[in-house]
Amino acid sequence: MNVESVYKEAGALLEGHFILSSGNHSNRYLQSAKVLENPATAELLATALAKMIRESGIEIDTVCAPALGGVIAGYELARALKVRSIFAERKDGTMELRRGFEIAKGEKIVICEDIITTGGSAMEVAKIITELGGEVVAFAALANRGFCKREGSEIPRASNCKLLENVPFFALGDFEFAMYEPNDCPMCKDGSVAIKPGSRA
Ligand code: ZN
Repeated sequence: MNVESVYKEAGALLEGHFILSSGNHSNRYLQSAKVLENPATAELLATALAKMIRESGIEIDTVCAPALGGVIAGYELARALKVRSIFAERKDGTMELRRGFEIAKGEKIVICEDIITTGGSAMEVAKIITELGGEVVAFAALANRGFCKREGSEIPRASNCKLLENVPFFALGDFEFAMYEPNDCPMCKDGSVAIKPGSRA
């Protein structure tokens, strides 16, 4: 499974001058929704990810994703693992479980996103799962943005990775892009104006 070519073929690997959610600038941007707009592709990716997780021997009851970005990947992963799928969402800036979703004591939960960058949202979800009595047994993403250490990759954990160190992180591949502080961005220095693709692109 070459996740980079899947993103490229779907037109989900954008080239230009972008403002990332962290505020840093990059010449590339991942638009996972473009990959997941094709249910067959989403199924293919989730099946490969589920296989990796299953082969690790970890027991899973439920997949929980941070909305909105992680919902489709989380749902497809849950389907491939044949477990329950729930999501957390932000209300007034705080991540919450709403819509009647409940967590049983000791319920084993995988937190799934489309892409894990530093893992900030995933860790917000991990916190509420733990507070509700659940157990975070793994993190999962279609791809790793190159800051966290995924199972089977040589790319080391960077200091800004927020994921729990003692919980495995499964992803299908790594995307390593150049990233710049806004005041140190060579594209800005060349006079180009960065755009924020996000949900609007
Ligand atoms: Zn820039």
